[in-house]
Amino acid sequence: MTDVPRRERNPLEPFACRIGCGACCIAPSITTPFAGMPNGKRAGERCAHLDDGNRCRLFGLPERARFCVELRPEPAMCGTTDTEAMVILTRLEAATSPRTLP
Ligand code: SF4
Ligand code: SF4
Repeated sequence: MTDVPRRERNPLEPFACRIGCGACCIAPSITTPFAGMPNGKRAGERCAHLDDGNRCRLFGLPERARFCVELRPEPAMCGTTDTEAMVILTRLEAATSPRTLP
């Protein structure tokens, strides 16, 4: 992760993912099994499908977790830097996730 604000804007979307951030692929837990992660993903655990550039190797493929397909980038979650996104998502996870994974 770097702390440089950057976006690849899609004119059809009001807010675009900051490519290479990866915070939402690390901070949140994913409680349902998905490809390569039969127990889901613990909060703070790096997803097995995140590449070295913090991009999803499953993007656009049916194997990508449903959680990820439904998650939309938005300022309140993504902040303005990767570090800010990680802080926000870690707080959200702690506030909304009473369960733990095995
Ligand atoms: S937290 Fe936001 S900016 Fe960072 S990878 Fe996820 S959607 Fe993209
Ligand atoms: S499947 Fe892709 S989008 Fe979902 S957490 Fe893993 S790397 Fe991120």
